Amino acid sequence: MSVTAQSVWENCLLFIKDNINPQAFKTWFLPIVAVKLTDNALSIQVPSKFFYEWLEEHYVKILKIALTKELGENARLVYVIRMENTYGNKQPFTEKIPSSQRQHAMQPQEVEMAVRNKDPELRNPFVIPGIRNLKIESQLNPTYNFENFLEGDSNRLARSAGIAVANKPGGTSFNPLLIFGGVGLGKTHLAHAIGVQIKDKYPEKTVLYISAEKFTQQYIESVRKNTRNDFVHFYQIIDVLILDDVQFLSGKAGTQDVFFHIFNHLHQNGKQIILTSDKAPVDMQDIEQRLLSRFKWGLSAELMTPDFDTRVSILQNKLYRDGVEMNDDIIEYVAKHIKSNIRELEGAIISLIAQSSFNKREVTLELAKQVVEKFVKNTKREISIDYIQKAVCDYFQMDLETLLSKTRRRHIVQARQLAMFFAKKYTKTSLASIGSQIGDRDHATVLHACKTVDNLYTTDKQFRKYVDDLNNKFTF
Ligand code: ADP
Ligand code: MG
Repeated sequence: MSVTAQSVWENCLLFIKDNINPQAFKTWFLPIVAVKLTDNALSIQVPSKFFYEWLEEHYVKILKIALTKELGENARLVYVIRMENTYGNKQPFTEKIPSSQRQHAMQPQEVEMAVRNKDPELRNPFVIPGIRNLKIESQLNPTYNFENFLEGDSNRLARSAGIAVANKPGGTSFNPLLIFGGVGLGKTHLAHAIGVQIKDKYPEKTVLYISAEKFTQQYIESVRKNTRNDFVHFYQIIDVLILDDVQFLSGKAGTQDVFFHIFNHLHQNGKQIILTSDKAPVDMQDIEQRLLSRFKWGLSAELMTPDFDTRVSILQNKLYRDGVEMNDDIIEYVAKHIKSNIRELEGAIISLIAQSSFNKREVTLELAKQVVEKFVKNTKREISIDYIQKAVCDYFQMDLETLLSKTRRRHIVQARQLAMFFAKKYTKTSLASIGSQIGDRDHATVLHACKTVDNLYTTDKQFRKYVDDLNNKFTF
């Protein structure tokens, strides 16, 4: 039998399993996938940077022993971390690893250069450098897929639009598909899932995932190196372009301009564009009008905060995938107390697993309370719309029903406008969503409210006092 990455790793696992407790084995070793074996270096893929750090901190010795048994004195271990936006390796027995073994996520230009330099045919002046031979790494993270993107009311529209696009890239009216919503609500996950499914269904299609930040860096670099045309051409041959966090392009006129041209080219040629943003197009600032209007050509789908049941399912699914068992009351406790963001929800549960496996303690409700409390304290509390409405009602001594009513009485209208103004100022909620939560108004009404408050603040002394008093409530 030949020696493969898998067989080496399986032998390591047998040894490790005999030497650590079963729960820790399940938590920290079963999710690992052996991906590559070259000479005496074994590459293993771990789910996150946290995972890698944990292994390095607690299990490096046993890993080293196991690996040395299998591959001899010069054994090396290479971690491949698959996580959001970052693909890279970390090497524990570091200095021994030649840099040629590191797998950097290649910059598209680098890929192109590599192909040009390597391919001897390209030296023939009669052969036009065949861009079609170019293999573009899609930069997709396969662990972000549809199977583990759980469905709930908060994401149903975006999720099904994503599936429709994945089944027929460029062939639906959802082009571009813009996924927007607050931090940690699944935009990046969903964007990858679409790409992963397209790659699965249409392996010949060129799919590229890139963050707007990296796109911007590449663009700036191309200007510096005088290769702007290469940059544009590179992007124009892509079939499915996924640009994550487009709000990053705010105020960057040059990058917006080049993206505008790429966008038009792709769109005209029936190529699929998928964008994510932390805001709805109407709320994006410092993005050129001509780009914004294009963002609205297709479908904008919002990811909202998940309800309790969805949060519970997400946690259960995560535990199941990690092979960890936990009592329902603990899961429910975590889901009940961490509501704003799925990343935090996962963070709390990972930290709970870590604590229990490190201290060899069983996960109890008591431990869950401690972890959640620490978590909630550490994350910056955001002011919610509910809180703002309550503060405004208290201040003007009116009840919530009056504030939200349709009445046009001046002091009530002003209170409502103030609530909208502060919601815009202190939350990341979209204008449309603020409107719907504060008396079921539309986004234009909210925009008007914000302008009115600005105006009155400079012209009306009494009104200025209202604004300042309320502002104090939110800043202290
Ligand atoms: P965003 O890009 O909106 O900030 P991410 O896509 O990075 O958010 O999601 C944060 C975390 O929450 C990720 O680990 C992701 O896998 C997880 N997550 C988000 N939505 C879901 C979902 N519907 N089901 C399961 N996991 C989810
Ligand atoms: Mg993201």
